[in-house]
Amino acid sequence: MQEKPKVQNRDFIRVGKSKIQGSGVFAKRKIPKGTRIIEYAGDRIPKKDLLSDVENGLTSHIYVLSINDELSVDGERNGNDARFINHSCEPNCEVYIFDEIPYIYAMVDIRRFEELTFDYKLQSSIGTKLTKKEKIALFPCNCQSKQCRGTILAK
Ligand SMILES: [Zn+2]
Repeated sequence: MQEKPKVQNRDFIRVGKSKIQGSGVFAKRKIPKGTRIIEYAGDRIPKKDLLSDVENGLTSHIYVLSINDELSVDGERNGNDARFINHSCEPNCEVYIFDEIPYIYAMVDIRRFEELTFDYKLQSSIGTKLTKKEKIALFPCNCQSKQCRGTILAK
């Protein structure tokens, strides 16, 4: 009897055009709640270096995910498809960090063809000094969910 090959995590998703914004990540098949879908890959950058990296043109800061107070992962540098996952205020995925490595997990059952999203508030480091109005103006959200708070930053 031939053993069934293990399902690789990349078989769960594909990158496509999103109604939310630009490119998005979509389920190729039903993804059960609790599934570890993909690592959020990228170079590990000390937060203190991020600003100078942006100024020196090494990164645009768009795909930076916070790991802890000192460390970030920059999906723009050696990242994978996870960086294309859009924000939603009513997401179907969430980020868990194990041993300083972030992973995208399904927080609900995800239907085939559904777009994967997570709430970027987990990674906002710039938003703390802004008013609600400024957050909405500078970092608007287009997730179209009923729970939309108007910005991709935390409340
Ligand atoms: Zn929203």
